[in-house]
This record gives sequence, C-alpha cells and structure tokens, in this order.
Amino acid sequence: MTKAIFTGSFDPFTMGHLDILKRAASLFDSVTVGVLENGEKHTAFNAEERCALIARVIEEEAFQNVRVEAFTGLAVELAKRTGSDCMLRGLRDAGDLPYEQRMERLNLHLAPDIQTVYMAASPAYAHISSSAVKEICALGGKLEGLVPAPIQISIAERLIKR
Ligand code: ADP
Repeated sequence: MTKAIFTGSFDPFTMGHLDILKRAASLFDSVTVGVLENGEKHTAFNAEERCALIARVIEEEAFQNVRVEAFTGLAVELAKRTGSDCMLRGLRDAGDLPYEQRMERLNLHLAPDIQTVYMAASPAYAHISSSAVKEICALGGKLEGLVPAPIQISIAERLIKR
C-alpha cells in the first residue's frame, strides 16, 4: 500500500495541480492533498475555501482514492499522521529544483522513512501558477484552461470581490 501526500498552498488550485493529482491518483493507492494553513494572512483564499474548491474538483473528477485536508506545521507530520510513505511534489521547470531539493533533504533529516517523489509538469500546464491565475483574474482575464472548469466561476467571483 503506497500512500502519498501532495502538499501546497493551492491558492487557488490550478490545472497544473490537477494534472499532477490525476497522475498521482493512478499511481498511488491513496493521495491526501494537504492544504497548508501557515501564513494564511497572505493568501487570497482561506484554508477552508481552498479545501472546499479542491473537494469540488475531487468530486467532479470522481477520484475514489483522493482526499483533502488542511494542515498546519510540518508536512512530514501530515505524512506520518496519514500513514503516507511519500511526499509528492510537482516540478514546473529547472528553477523549482534547488528549492525542492533543499526541502527534500530537510524532510529526510526530519523523517528518514518518508521519501519525496517528483513529477515533472506536463508541457501543457508547466506555465501555470496560482499567482499567475490571481494576476490574470485581477486584470480581467479569463480563467478558462488555467483552473479546473467546475471551480472557475467560484474562483473568479471570489477574486473579483476582493
Ligand atoms: P507551494 O507554496 O508549496 O509551492 P503551490 O500551491 O504553489 O504550493 O504548489 C503545490 C505543489 O504543486 C508544488 O509541488 C508545486 O511545485 C506544484 N505545482 C504548482 N504548479 C504546478 C504546475 N503548473 N505543474 C506542476 N506542478 C505544479
């Protein structure tokens, strides 16, 4: 039984995140999406809102082995609590690698039994980031193709209301 956690800010969840999640759901027995609550004051969506958006995507995609929960503190503690052996990370480009490798080494120091697994972003989604989504929305651009269809309107409404 291989269980993974996929952690991040997900502020908001994008097509890039969904791409990684889809591939992970077919690879691992189960995946817990961990929504980081730390430093919430800097996020556009609070943790509850981010979890609710992801829960809607999980339902629409009919994932049977994916769940979402908010967490605070160390990702390795979430991994331990959920009985996960892997921490999954997406890599958009080579620029992501130095930070991710530092995190991997620190996490191995904290929890030697929990391995980090990387997935390279699919070319179709590698340019998408949550911050770009927020910027585009603020400038009046459409979110089509940038965030999953079932949560497009909620994200746009929420960002425009800010
Ligand atoms: P964090 O604050 O941890 O970077 P993010 O919400 O930005 O949180 O990202 C969560 C995870 O998703 C990270 O592993 C990140 O590299 C990955 N990710 C973000 N955008 C993409 C994308 N477009 N394609 C693939 N992976 C991505």
